Amino acid sequence: MAYRVTFISGDGTGPEISEATSRVLDATGVEFEWDWQTAGTDVYEEEGNPLPDRVLESIKERGLAMKAPITTPVGSGFRSINVQLRKELDLYACLRPCRAYEGVRTRFPETDIVIVRENHEDLYAGVEYEKGAEDTARLREFIADTEGTRLREDIGVTIKAISVFGTERIVREAFEYAQSYGRKKITLAHKANIMKFSDGLFLETGQRIADEEFGDSGIEFEERIIDNLCNQLVSRPEEYDVIVLPNLYGDIVSDLGAGLIGGLGLAPGANVGDDYAVFEAVHGSAPKYKGQNKVNPMALMLSGVMLLHHIEETEAANGLENAIAEVISEGESVTYDMKSSRDDPSAVGTSEVADAIIEKMRNGAS
Ligand code: NAD
Repeated sequence: MAYRVTFISGDGTGPEISEATSRVLDATGVEFEWDWQTAGTDVYEEEGNPLPDRVLESIKERGLAMKAPITTPVGSGFRSINVQLRKELDLYACLRPCRAYEGVRTRFPETDIVIVRENHEDLYAGVEYEKGAEDTARLREFIADTEGTRLREDIGVTIKAISVFGTERIVREAFEYAQSYGRKKITLAHKANIMKFSDGLFLETGQRIADEEFGDSGIEFEERIIDNLCNQLVSRPEEYDVIVLPNLYGDIVSDLGAGLIGGLGLAPGANVGDDYAVFEAVHGSAPKYKGQNKVNPMALMLSGVMLLHHIEETEAANGLENAIAEVISEGESVTYDMKSSRDDPSAVGTSEVADAIIEKMRNGAS
C-alpha cells in the first residue's frame, strides 16, 4: 500500500527542488501517494491566508509531510509559516543531521553529528516587551521590586522561557534518536553558569532524564557550555555525535553544522512531534534563483532519506543516500555550489541532479 504523504511545494526555488525530490523518492521503489499542497506568498495573495486550513488538515490526516522552503516577507505580510506549522502540529523537536560526504569541499571530512534542537521555547517563545511600551515600564517596576535590578528605561525585552516539560521531551527525543540510529553519545549544550534558572534548568533536567531513564542505555551523556562547544566543533567535530540544545543555540549550531559539511545545499532536517513529522531542508527559498533550475536539491532529498528511515523503509533510505553520496563523490552531476568555483560551467541544474541520482539507483549504488 502506498504511503500517503503531504508535499508542500513551497515558493521561490521550492517547486523546483520539490519536483526533483519527489522524483528520486518515487524511484526508490517505495510507493508514495503525494498530496500536493501550496502555501506561502502566492497563496496569501490568492486565498488571504498563507497557511490555509487545507494544508494543516492534509498533514493531520496523513501524519507525514515533505516541505520545501517558504519565503517569509520581512516587516510586513504574514508570520513565518514554518513557526506556525511547528506550533499547530506541536513539532517540538528539530533534527538536523550534519554528515560530510566524501568529495565535498570541507576542512572537516570526519563530521557526522546530529543536532537535536528544542523548537518551541527559549527566546523563541514569542514573549516580548517593546521599548517605551506601558507594559515594559510595568515589567521594569516589577523587576526592581522583586529582584532589585533597575533596568534602563530604554530597554526592549525578550523572555527566555525554558520548562521542565519541554526539556524532558527534547532530551528523551535525543536519546530515542540515538537508540534508533546506533549513536553512542549525547552532548547537552547550555550556558548554565550564567543563566541559572533557564539553561540551569535545562542542564539539571537533562542530566536527570539521562540518569533515571537512560542510565542503562549504553549511551554516554555529557554536557558542554555552548561557547566551548562552538570552539570545539570548528576544531574537532569528529568528537561529537548527537548534540541536544535549547532553541536559539540549536538554531545557530545547525547553521554552523551545515558549514562544517559543505554548505546549506547539503543540510537536511526534520521537525517532529508525538503525532506528526515534517521533513524539510535547513535552507530557505533562495528566491533570487527562482525558476532557473540552478539550486542544489540534495538537502531536500536527504530530508527524504530521513522520511524513509522514519517510515522504516531502511533499504530504500540507504539506497537513496548511497546514490546521492556517489553523485557527490564523482563531482560531475552536481550544482554550482558544490563546484570549486561558483561559475564553473560544468555545474548541472536541479533537475539533472535528480536524473543522475535516479540513474545511480537503477544501477544499484553501493
Ligand atoms: P536561503 O537559504 O534561502 O539562501 C541563502 C543563500 O544560500 C542563497 O542565496 C544561496 O546562495 C544559498 N543557498 C540556499 N539554498 C541553496 C541550495 N539549495 N542550493 C544552492 N545554494 C543555496 O536564505 P535567505 O536568503 O536568508 O532566505 C530566503 C527566504 O527563505 C526568506 O524569506 C526566509 O525567511 C526563508 N526561509 C525559509 C525557510 C523554510 O521554509 N524552512 C528556512 C530558512 C529561510
